[in-house]
Parts: sequence; structure tokens; C-alpha cells
Amino acid sequence: MGLLSEGSPLNWEETKKLSDHVRKHGVIQFINLYKRLRDRQGDVLKWGDEVEYMLIKFDDDSKTAKLSLRAMEILKILNEKENEDPKNVKSLWRPEYGAYMIEGTPGKPYGGLLAHFNVVEANMRYRRQEATKLLQPNEVLMSLTVFPRVGAPEFTDPPAYPAFNTGASKSLFFPDEAIYPGHPRFKTLTRNIRERRGEKVAINIPIYRDKSVPLLFKEDLIDKGDDGSSSKASKDNHIYMDAMGFGMGCCCLQLTFQACNIQEARTLYDQLTPLCPIMLALTAASPFYRGYISDVDCRWSVISSSVDCRTQEERGLKPLKENKFRISKSRYDSIDSYLSKQGERYNDVPVTYDDEIYKQLLDNDIDHLLAQHIAHLFIRDSVSLFSEKVHQDDLKDTDHFENIQSTNWQTMRFKPPPPNSSIGWRVEFRPCEVQITDFENAAIVCFTVLLTRVILSYKLNLLIPISKVDQNMVKAQKRDAVKVEKFWFRRDITSDIKSDDAQSEYTEFTINEIINGKDGIFPGLVPLVNSYLANMDVDADTHCTIQRYIKLIQKRASGELLTTAAWLRKEVTSHPEYK
Ligand code: ADP
Ligand code: MG
Ligand code: MG
Ligand code: MG
Ligand code: MG
Repeated sequence: MGLLSEGSPLNWEETKKLSDHVRKHGVIQFINLYKRLRDRQGDVLKWGDEVEYMLIKFDDDSKTAKLSLRAMEILKILNEKENEDPKNVKSLWRPEYGAYMIEGTPGKPYGGLLAHFNVVEANMRYRRQEATKLLQPNEVLMSLTVFPRVGAPEFTDPPAYPAFNTGASKSLFFPDEAIYPGHPRFKTLTRNIRERRGEKVAINIPIYRDKSVPLLFKEDLIDKGDDGSSSKASKDNHIYMDAMGFGMGCCCLQLTFQACNIQEARTLYDQLTPLCPIMLALTAASPFYRGYISDVDCRWSVISSSVDCRTQEERGLKPLKENKFRISKSRYDSIDSYLSKQGERYNDVPVTYDDEIYKQLLDNDIDHLLAQHIAHLFIRDSVSLFSEKVHQDDLKDTDHFENIQSTNWQTMRFKPPPPNSSIGWRVEFRPCEVQITDFENAAIVCFTVLLTRVILSYKLNLLIPISKVDQNMVKAQKRDAVKVEKFWFRRDITSDIKSDDAQSEYTEFTINEIINGKDGIFPGLVPLVNSYLANMDVDADTHCTIQRYIKLIQKRASGELLTTAAWLRKEVTSHPEYK
């Protein structure tokens, strides 16, 4: 979930006092890094996936499934191989927000060869087996985006109870014991985000309507210990949640790509942006929250609200007095501006940024688009700071920059090379929900990697205005979005023709049309991938692997196969004991 600095965490009061310090040095660190690395050339395509998992404990006698809070114990063992021989491991394991979560990546990134697609799924399977070996009887490792009963009574093993007066989140539902205990970052973030906001986070997700739900769905929260604030924050006919864990305790699938230089990284960042909502809808896997069925299929708005540290002033509920900016989005949300020259004309949403930082970046020979991006990230305060890290050497360290960068959890992340490493400029693709099987996850990963190859080799242009990408993000999360929604997409992605009015450049398509094509009107992403492959020298094995993955993507897009969310819904609502 980002930077894992070691040390003693500062509380919110202390962190707040140091906000300007972190920002000031973070920007200087970025400027120094940029000067060193702007002209770095010749890096090759490398890429890797991140899969997050949950530990689930089944009890066959009582017929229950609970989140097992043993991630730390298991991680300790999983990390042994890496600690002994970091260069020669097949997998790397990291903690995540939940005390029941682990994150696995391949031991080394993959390279540009198409044949690497043959090992992606095998490596995912290896990781699953490696972690599964360490489990107790009746514990199972699952790559579920959301645990259906997270926040329902006694959803953990061992059972834990929310400390709504004293806990880090003050949640009525999500106990601190379910937060990863092995690193102070997670609890500190939880507490600081709540304190910065000035109240608990509030997440309201519409309830799914069927005959089992009363006409007015309203819970008695006072009964659960509410001091009145939750009752006020919760909405009728919604599933109400009040803790960071409801969002950050979800699992996802992420991908990182290395570009050959900074320009290519900026192009990839932009071109992948319109695909974020499309891939979110295709990978939809989270219909349940707190033991209820919701009316959405994706975790995105839940996780976005779960770390929304904006004050009432910043959210526009009060005139600005203490704070500097009105801010339209949570620090976890879709991106607000494109970074490449080509993208500039599609930046149609006013970007909130810090003027002084922006000017400082321009004065240091950083162009408008990149300066705007960084100055926008830096409207946020640090929400997790360690006393040992306060004073740094801005010529060498990048911790303050990473502090702000890694707590801007956006659909895309523009990652500069780390100091003193062989790693180049990278972009991270972050919207996807994780799927239940390795096959599905490998399919999504390989398809997305292929799309980046096609985009770069054919110089495709997928750009549409940022405001339209934002609208697509909302549509993507709706129930059955793949089947019923239409998404803004560029009409002609194979030529870079700009019209006088940007409006005629895009129109609405179904996901099926975007993926599989629309006769004579839109070529479709899969046919473009196939035409790219036809021009490559692909061996029979690799061809077969790729085609199995592409078939899955095609069938999900056409509705012939259900999305994970739709399948989960069906399993539950058709169950004889569903109520
Ligand atoms: P974060 O949590 O910040 O996203 P992780 O270290 O968890 O970062 O994941 C990074 C991903 O990037 C992994 O999939 C890894 O295999 C991949 N990766 C590592 N080095 C490179 C590189 N040079 N280029 C592209 N991807 C890389
Ligand atoms: Mg993660
Ligand atoms: Mg990671
Ligand atoms: Mg991370
Ligand atoms: Mg990541």
C-alpha cells in the first residue's frame, strides 16, 4: 500500500505541524531527482503484477467463514527466502492494510518477450501454493476483492470487537485488530486520516433492492454504540461504513510498466487513463459489504471514501478559513490531468494545485503539465510521518516526495526511478479488481500488457476529455455495468485526427463494442491486439496461452460469461438460505 518507512510514527498534531516541511522538502527532492533522471534513456520494457490475497478460516461445524488475522505470522515465514537471497526468489511478499491480507509479486519483473506470458499464471499459482502451504487446516488463501461479511459481527478469527471510543478508526464495525499490526503505518494512517478530516470517514453504498429488503432500510446505530455522529452520517437505504478498513481492506490487482524514457512513460500514463474505467467494469468483483448485497459491483467508491481525509472546508461544506483549497476528490480517486503534450487538450477539468509549488517547479525547468501534476499531488498533507525520517538529505533521499506520492492513491501512478537503482520511469495501472482464479488474473494482466504494446507500436490515441473519464468511472461501478452501461470512448483510435470541437472525437460505446468492435464503426481492442500478434513471431505455446486469455476477456465483455461480481450475486441471491 505504499512507502513502508521504519520508525516511530508521529501523531496527527505533530504530523500537521510538519506538513509544510514535508511538502517543501518533498518538492525539492522531486526537483533534484528530475534533474538527475530526466534524460535517462534506453530502459527496456519490464513489467510486473501485484496480487492481494485474504486469509479465510472456515469452520465446517458452525458453517462460518471468517477473516483469519494471521497475515503477519505467515509473512514472516514468506519473507525468509527473500531475506536470505533477495535476487533469486520466485516471489516477493509484502504486508497490506488488513491483518488478514498479504500481497505477492513475481520475484523479478518480466521483460518484453511475448513468451513471458507463458509464466505469468504459473507464477501466480506458485505464489498461491507457497502461501497456502503455511496455512492451518481450514484456512484458505483467496483472491477476493471484498470479503462479503467484513464489518459484520465477529467477522474475524480470533473474534475481535470494535473499540468505537478509543480505536484508531473509532469504527462501530471494524476492529483495530483487523488492521495489520506488524507495521505502524497502517494504524497511524487510519488515525491521522480521521483526525485530519475532523470526523470519522463515512461510506454510504446503495443497498440492493429486492423482496428481502424493507422499503425503508435504516439501521439502528445507537444500539451499536454510536454517539450520534454515525446516525447523522449514514443515509437511508444505504449500507453505511465508517472505517478505512472497509476500503483499504479490499484486495486488488495492479500492474507496473517500465518505459524506455520519461516521454514514453508520460504517453503510457495518458493512454492507459481512458482504459481505467473500462477495465474496472470488466473486472468488477465486489457486490457485498458488511453482510449485505449492495447495488454496486466495484470497490472504487468505497475505498475512495474510506481514506477521504478532506476537511469540511475542503469538501465545500464550509467557507475556507483554516484550509487553503476546495478539493473535488478524495486522495484515492481517478487522476485529474494528462501528462503528455498530446493529452494537454483533453485536460478539461480545472486542476487544483499549489501555485507556489507550481512556480517553483517551472523555475526549475519543469514543464507546465508535469509541474501541474506534482503541484496537484502536493495539495495534500502528509498523513503518516516517522520521527526518524523528518530530516533528510534532499540530494539523496526521496522519502518526503514518496510520502506524498504514495498517499495519492489514484487510478494511474507516475513513478520516477528510485534513487541509485537500475529501475527506469514507470507507470502503474491501478483500477482492476482482483479475480478469484489465477487464470482470470493472468488473463487480465496479459491483456493489459498487450494493450500497452499495441498502443505504443501502432501509436494509438485513446484520449478523451478527463471529464468523460470521470463520468465513466461512475458508470463502471454500477451493477451490471458491462451489460447495461455505455461508456465514452474515442471514435477513431487508430489515427490522431483532432477535430475543431473535441466533442465529435468521442461517442458512447458498450464495453462489448470497445473490446470486440462494432462493424464498420469501431475496430475493437481485441481485434487490434490480434492484428498486432499476427505481425509478430509468436510460438505456438504462447499463441495458445494468449488466445485462452483473450477469449475470457471477449466473453466477459460480450456478456456470454458473467463478471465476478455478477457471478457472486447470483450465487448468493439464488441460495436457498438467502434472506
Ligand atoms: P507498489 O506497491 O509501489 O506498487 P510493488 O513493489 O509492490 O510497488 O510492486 C511493483 C511491481 O513492479 C511488481 O509487480 C514488480 O514486479 C514490478 N517491477 C519491479 N521492477 C520493475 C521495473 N524495473 N519495471 C517495471 N516493473 C517493475
Ligand atoms: Mg497493495
Ligand atoms: Mg505493492
Ligand atoms: Mg503498494
Ligand atoms: Mg502497487
